[in-house]
Amino acid sequence: VKHALLIRGGRVVSSVAIRQADVRIRDGAVIEVAQNLRPDGERLIDATGLYLLPGVIDAHSHQWEPGFASRPDFRDDTTSAAVGGITTIIDHPLTRPEVLDAAGLRDKAELGERTSLVDFALHAGVTPGLLDAMDGLWAAGATGFKFFTCESGSALKPFTDPSDQRSVLERVQTLGAIALVHAEDQATLDENREQLRTGSAIGRGAFWEWRSPETELAAVDAVLALAHETGARTYIVHASLPESVAAVAAARRRGVQAYAETCPHYLALSTEEILANDQWVTSAPPVRDRRRRDVLRSQLGAEIATIGSDHCSIPRASKVAADPLASLPGVPGNETMLPVMLDLVHQGVLTPERLVALTAEHPAQLFGLSRRKGSLKPGLDGDVSLVSLDEDTVPLAGKTTMAAGWTPYEGRRLRGRVMATIVRGCVVVWEGKVQVDPGFGCFLPREHPPIDF
Ligand SMILES: [Zn+2]
Repeated sequence: VKHALLIRGGRVVSSVAIRQADVRIRDGAVIEVAQNLRPDGERLIDATGLYLLPGVIDAHSHQWEPGFASRPDFRDDTTSAAVGGITTIIDHPLTRPEVLDAAGLRDKAELGERTSLVDFALHAGVTPGLLDAMDGLWAAGATGFKFFTCESGSALKPFTDPSDQRSVLERVQTLGAIALVHAEDQATLDENREQLRTGSAIGRGAFWEWRSPETELAAVDAVLALAHETGARTYIVHASLPESVAAVAAARRRGVQAYAETCPHYLALSTEEILANDQWVTSAPPVRDRRRRDVLRSQLGAEIATIGSDHCSIPRASKVAADPLASLPGVPGNETMLPVMLDLVHQGVLTPERLVALTAEHPAQLFGLSRRKGSLKPGLDGDVSLVSLDEDTVPLAGKTTMAAGWTPYEGRRLRGRVMATIVRGCVVVWEGKVQVDPGFGCFLPREHPPIDF
């Protein structure tokens, strides 16, 4: 029977419970979750001692197709996603052309279906002057509208002016959509840069002084105030500061539909470690100090809504720069996202149930995918991230499938390991080896409005 699987003897995790159960998948969909299911001609997988997570959704991915002559493209980045246990990616619009209208979205979806190994959805972009395209993008199945409050390094022009920010949020509110905001304040960035330039010789730490905590917090506060005024659903992408997460939580108490996403690198790395080890792990916003990292970890239990990798395969050569402010920000991280999070589960930072909320249920609900994705229930897609909490993962540049060819977790022993990645009942990756042909992945248009929680 095609795409028919019986996964036996494992522990099935939801956001509320872990239970011993077998999972039967047929024609791509889960049909039964119960104990002691009898085989009926399916391929059998023995999951004794393993955990079945609902397929992990990486709601923050940057692959570079279309528009970039070289890698990484859909094939590269969905390979490393799948090896890392991710069954769905939601790609951001910073490809070239940027995804700024319905035709652009459809073109990118078609391109993705040629070579993607896992299912994928697409966030749209918004830039000042192009707000009229939002209706068409939403109708074409975009999952959200990304905009920047600072220079993006792409043709996606930022909304630096508060009245422009208000206009885009008003549109988002009218559509019943969700805004995804890169929140760093351009004026503060400019001031910081100016001060660094007029000072004496600058070291690598200058990147962190430039993109200071104040830079992020100023933008987060301003955007949340506008979200309050306009009633627009607002999702802060890659919140690096516990203060940002606390601001989102405070806005929610005032009735704002606000959400905070954070990324594995903010939870697993620290400025001290990066600078001491002479690493060039630059990102925008950057990894913060150890104290903030620890507070951010404590917010995983309630205030943080989702985890996204912000995977971006920037080669190391583009990061190491004579001028630290010229280091190209971005961290390769889809292959390591789930292992890093499993290690945090092992450390007791969060529960397996909460991990499922952050990486499957919440992104499926917010981005209109929950009719098919986000939980292991009859009728939904048979997407499973099959993991061990007893075995280790040791990320190594020489072994990674990430196109950038390096990892910020080089040599680190992470407790937790991805054993298999299953999409619609098909084993896409088994113990690190790809089992399907490029093009197996399908485009997922948003199927419902965001579900608030
Ligand atoms: Zn990003």
